[in-house]
Amino acid sequence: MGSDSLSILTPSTKPTPLPSQEEDSANPSAALLSFDTDSSPSSSANSPHKPATTIVFISLLLTTCVALSAAVAFAFLFFSSPSGSPHPSSSSFESSARPLKNLHHPVVLLISSDGFRFGYQFKTPTPNIGRLIANGTEADMGLIPVFPTLTFPNHYSIVTGLYPSYHGIINNHFVDPHTGELFTMASHEPKWWLGEPLWETVVNHGFKAATYFWPGSEVNKGSWTCPEKFCKHYNGSVPFEERVDTVLHYFDLPSTEIPVFMTLYFEDPDHQGHQVGPDDPEITKAVARIDGLIGKLIEGLEKRGVFEDVTIIMVGDHGMVGTCDKKLIFLDDLAPWVEIPKDWVQSYTPLLAIRPPPGVEPADVVAKINEGLKSGKVENGQNLRVYLKEELPSRLHYAASDRIPPVIGLIEEGFKVEQKRTNRRECGGAHGYDNAIFSMRTIFIGHGPQFARGRKVPSFENVQIYNLVTSILNIQGAPNNGSLSFPTSVLLPPSP
Ligand SMILES: [Zn+2]
Repeated sequence: MGSDSLSILTPSTKPTPLPSQEEDSANPSAALLSFDTDSSPSSSANSPHKPATTIVFISLLLTTCVALSAAVAFAFLFFSSPSGSPHPSSSSFESSARPLKNLHHPVVLLISSDGFRFGYQFKTPTPNIGRLIANGTEADMGLIPVFPTLTFPNHYSIVTGLYPSYHGIINNHFVDPHTGELFTMASHEPKWWLGEPLWETVVNHGFKAATYFWPGSEVNKGSWTCPEKFCKHYNGSVPFEERVDTVLHYFDLPSTEIPVFMTLYFEDPDHQGHQVGPDDPEITKAVARIDGLIGKLIEGLEKRGVFEDVTIIMVGDHGMVGTCDKKLIFLDDLAPWVEIPKDWVQSYTPLLAIRPPPGVEPADVVAKINEGLKSGKVENGQNLRVYLKEELPSRLHYAASDRIPPVIGLIEEGFKVEQKRTNRRECGGAHGYDNAIFSMRTIFIGHGPQFARGRKVPSFENVQIYNLVTSILNIQGAPNNGSLSFPTSVLLPPSP
């Protein structure tokens, strides 16, 4: 269906952006995060009973002893856990980066689990991801994707530090307004892919990079030639285990040959999320499987004695939200105000993108659509609002490219836009909405010598990751939309 993970390379995928919904998800996340530990037996020991008899008194005393010892045992287990103290109090962190033991240069392994919505890690035991979190640094309320919250725009923002309007991949599919050419997820011509991705930066500095799938990695650009040895051409049927094994084997190379930057990509759980929505047991299974792959990776790195030396950055590209319940808006319903023919529409949902033909003023189209939507006569009309792209909220950074069509619609979380009414009943999951919507958030975990153990940092946008990686590798990055000071707020300072 609507899967736009790398596995679907057809141009038919519909990405969609979101409405101007304000962030409403502090509550769901708070619920997710409110681990309730006050069931500790010690609370019963403080009960204000007044024992009337010795027997009652003794039994209470016994209860208290049992409760206290249970509490002590609990505390012991809690604080002596090998995964380290999860306490985010800041004073206990290391004061500087840990030295490398077996590698001769920092190595960053960037892992993407497509559609890994923030909170999925609480669905099921994830001991391996949990190990990275407990001994590394985590964005405590998740990683904020760029708008539109789609696979290609986000993966390319992660590796360039640029918003889509600057790196050029403004959607999973779009039309070049000057040439009329169509970009799809299978387009590898360098003209589409602007900016300087990390693999190119790394090679520019005389190091090796290896990509096991990542949007843009097959594009020959600048010094990057997608070398056969270190650049895998996308093939979604390669088993995940094989991908992990291949990456592990890079660490068997002579030390000067080991790529200092590697990518590793998994299509799941995005794949399942589209089919069944974020709350299905299928997702739980997919998350457990990803955790198992992380375990396989950790085990392989430990066997090679480099687990503590390698920097693992685990992210997703975006989250996922359920789209059931007939939450649909039909463009044909707007006909009394303005006709929107199919060939004006470059994408429907969750990013509505319309390019009216020459001679039709985009501002008129916007005014008429919004008039219809606000009339109360269009079903679900209040859940869509269209903008001239220049008038979108500036926090979306979605205007500065000719490739972005002039009329952009933001759709409320979980709603979808279609051209006309059909009998089709669809129930699944989607993403692409406003990046302020909490369900679009994904995960960020950094584990390695320059990440403090057990540290939580505030959520940040994924355009910061480029500078983070170049800082870890100690190389000069290309100009980008991330903040130059960001790495110092997340990484440990170099050891003196
Ligand atoms: Zn997807």
